[in-house]
Amino acid sequence: MRKITMLVAAALALATGGAASAKTTVIYAGKLIADADKGVQGPSTIVVTDDRITSITAGRAEAPAGAEIVDLGDKTVLPGLIDLHVHLTGDPGGDFRSEAVEPDEWGVVVGTKNARLTLRAGFTTVREAGSAQYTAFALRRGTAEGFVEGPRIIAAGPSLSIVGGHGDVTGFREDIHAVLDQGYSCTGAVECAEKVRKASRAGADVIKITATGGVLSQQGRGLGAHFTDAEMESIAQTAHSLGLKVMAHAHGARGIEAASAAGIDSIEHGTFADDAALKVMKAKGTYLVPTLMAFEGVRERLGKGIYTPTVEEKVRMTLGTVGQAVGKAKALGVPIAFGTDAGVFEHGRNAGEFALLVKAGLTPREALASATTVAARLLSMEDEVGRLAPGLSADIIAVSGDPLSDVTALEKVDWVMARGRIAD
Ligand SMILES: [Zn+2]
Repeated sequence: MRKITMLVAAALALATGGAASAKTTVIYAGKLIADADKGVQGPSTIVVTDDRITSITAGRAEAPAGAEIVDLGDKTVLPGLIDLHVHLTGDPGGDFRSEAVEPDEWGVVVGTKNARLTLRAGFTTVREAGSAQYTAFALRRGTAEGFVEGPRIIAAGPSLSIVGGHGDVTGFREDIHAVLDQGYSCTGAVECAEKVRKASRAGADVIKITATGGVLSQQGRGLGAHFTDAEMESIAQTAHSLGLKVMAHAHGARGIEAASAAGIDSIEHGTFADDAALKVMKAKGTYLVPTLMAFEGVRERLGKGIYTPTVEEKVRMTLGTVGQAVGKAKALGVPIAFGTDAGVFEHGRNAGEFALLVKAGLTPREALASATTVAARLLSMEDEVGRLAPGLSADIIAVSGDPLSDVTALEKVDWVMARGRIAD
């Protein structure tokens, strides 16, 4: 059967003047980390056919005729990195009122710039954690089709929020709120289920909710829980029934605990997570995505007249606590997956998160796993990304040095291939 298929493919290739023939790339690695859990191997040969890894062998194997050769003999080659929390369509700082001036379409233009910066930084898969209407979906298609140089995008679209919550438009007159409304705030289990279905229909790969107050929005009532338990249960059940996972922005401990108990799949930020909240997360298998880089970005902008007084107050509430949840989560066995909140700081600095995770208590190996194998598991894409193995997507990067002894080696990525395409 397979032979017949190949014959047909060959005939088609002849008929179309060879346009359908496969492209083969042979990569020579000085050192190889195929799986963050398995350590470093010596010189290796990776063969890529179109967008797939087709073989990995020890040593320097002979390349087939006509193959493109990439010699990374002095580098460590490893899986493309995964950032589970980015906002490609936005840049840091700026006046929140620009929301009432700039069209959504401008976000796509900003996003093409940021997709490229993110890919160059070694991130070949990202999860878009909230953006205006169809902007992230347009970018997702752009990078998939190769029109835009950038990572594979798993996109949420607009966040679900309570009325006046972190994901809703806040800080304007009521009549302006009505005009800027993205259409995804909800009240009660029924309306929240409806908004999940609406997000699914619009093209969401994942449902993003704001389960507590947030630091950078104008809503002024702190960082505590927002949705009711019934609303979050409805969101989680409806999303899961559609095959979608839910990621919940959450800072306050009781909001984190309630979101996890409701069946939400990952807690983003998790700043004030206490032992009670983390025990529920452990029991429910909820992942923590710490986004420590977000707070670096916020710290750099504090006291400079960039943020409104409402926001500055919330920033000061959080900065002393950032990172503490990571050590506690690790001690209790809560899975920790890599996400940065890029967009709150400059896109392209994503790998700065690795050193912060190590400072917070992870080993370099755990930090690398968080951005590869663990992140792939949270995405349910472990047969596609997060490791280098035959059959997986050809998402491959190379760095100088050994990231398993010094994670800052990941802050300068020398070579990137995403879905078989070499970033130039
Ligand atoms: Zn975010």
